[in-house]
Amino acid sequence: MDKVILRPHREESLLRYHPWVFSGAIAQVVGHPAEGDLVSVVSSEGQLLACGHYQIGSIAVRILSFDEDPTQADFWLRMLSRAYQLRLSCGLAASADTNCYRLVHGEGDGLPGLIIDYYDGVAVLQAHSVGMFRAKNAIADALRELYGDALKAVYDKSSGTAPFKAGLELVDGYLYKRADFTAEEQSVLENGHRFLVNWGEGQKTGFFLDQRENRFRVGQLSRGRNVLNLFCYTGGFSIYALAGGATHVDSVDSSQRAMDMVDRNVALNGFPAEQHTSYCADAIDFVKQAPDGAYDLIIVDPPAFAKHRGALKNALRAYQRLNAAAIAKVAPGGFVFTFSCSQVVDKEAFALAVFSAAAQTGRSVRILDRLNQPADHSVNIFHPEGEYLKGLLLYVE
Ligand code: SAH
Repeated sequence: MDKVILRPHREESLLRYHPWVFSGAIAQVVGHPAEGDLVSVVSSEGQLLACGHYQIGSIAVRILSFDEDPTQADFWLRMLSRAYQLRLSCGLAASADTNCYRLVHGEGDGLPGLIIDYYDGVAVLQAHSVGMFRAKNAIADALRELYGDALKAVYDKSSGTAPFKAGLELVDGYLYKRADFTAEEQSVLENGHRFLVNWGEGQKTGFFLDQRENRFRVGQLSRGRNVLNLFCYTGGFSIYALAGGATHVDSVDSSQRAMDMVDRNVALNGFPAEQHTSYCADAIDFVKQAPDGAYDLIIVDPPAFAKHRGALKNALRAYQRLNAAAIAKVAPGGFVFTFSCSQVVDKEAFALAVFSAAAQTGRSVRILDRLNQPADHSVNIFHPEGEYLKGLLLYVE
């Protein structure tokens, strides 16, 4: 294994289990590691600290192990089993009314660069690093051992995320498929509600598992309310709102494919079509054109407006404009559930953008709750960068 030697005093973050080594911390690379190779990381005094995937870029090593040897044959199975145990302890795996969850959340599960979402037997793997991309077949084998016959397929959805240089075409596809499994989509259960997931054609791995608990909250507050679900994707919040007793739900997304799925999900859960309306439209235009007070619960869950620090300022302005429109339109005594999934927009910055939005409307607004990502999207305490989903539940008078 090639070796990365750190500059003096640059071992501290690793001693605290932070899972990245930045290129600026490196004094010397011994050998000629290729991108994705395993390298050991040693302090300037020669102490072996950790071992991880090497990559050219500002994050030079993503740590896989502080104490174990990742070259051992059962490494992946042990790591996936740990991740599974956590989901089991949280009541997610082996639950009667939820059969989809995130099995691996990158750094949160000690596996930087790897996402695995589990949809009732279909594991969708997304590599965000060269090392994880190269390890995908070994990971698929470990998934087969972990789940046994329950595993129907392992699908690799890394073409949009694996950081290979331009020119190299990556193609998504199955790493494993049980002989009797031919479906390209299937319905999963989340808190007893059914959702169609299409891992090949859908966004991300097919479904936004990170909103499970926030959807539940929406369901609890929907009785007798006219609900607007902005940026609805396949209608997660809409189904919970209908199940929670909403009088009517309007769902809006700019993707026609997503809207077709919303209609199918409404039917799949047995709600009458007249209780729900789908709009393929721009969410900001839609809410601006809505009559004042038409909705008494509005959900605002846009895609990440800032994908990197450079986009932060514009993103905060966009959050402010969008939230001002929603807060202005909601009926007196109404709720607004508002979210940001931009990792670079932290809780405080987001709250400030929503504060400015509220001030702009001149309405009285209270924060009833602060919302987060759920337990299967866990955050390594030494890697706060893993916290990305934040939201506020507002009460508007
Ligand atoms: N709330 C969803 C996830 C939202 S993801 C859920 O619970 O599953 C963000 C969604 O915003 C995507 O479906 C994307 O198609 C949609 N989107 C992006 N820009 C948009 C715009 N300007 N207007 C409406 N929808 C948009």
